[in-house]
Amino acid sequence: MEKEYACHACGSVSDTHVQYNKPPHIGLICKDCGTHITWLVKPVSDFEFWFGKYKGCKLSEMTTPDHVSWLKWCLANCTNLKTKYVDLVKKHVGL
Ligand SMILES: [Zn+2]
Repeated sequence: MEKEYACHACGSVSDTHVQYNKPPHIGLICKDCGTHITWLVKPVSDFEFWFGKYKGCKLSEMTTPDHVSWLKWCLANCTNLKTKYVDLVKKHVGL
């Protein structure tokens, strides 16, 4: 069951506010007045790459040898990648 969020601008409470992607986040917009309500915490089991050659690809869908070798390259070279993503990538490629 989804949590309900109240809009701080118009007071509308709904579990059907509009979600939008702004990787690595998901935002929530009031369905009545369009005000940004909050950032939702994205499930940490998967994420979409927001940079590089495979921008827009989900980690869970990156299963070909090309993908895996890029992911390993990324682990070695993308030193500013946050720990939570590094851990997910490592798990995905079996490291
Ligand atoms: Zn509103």
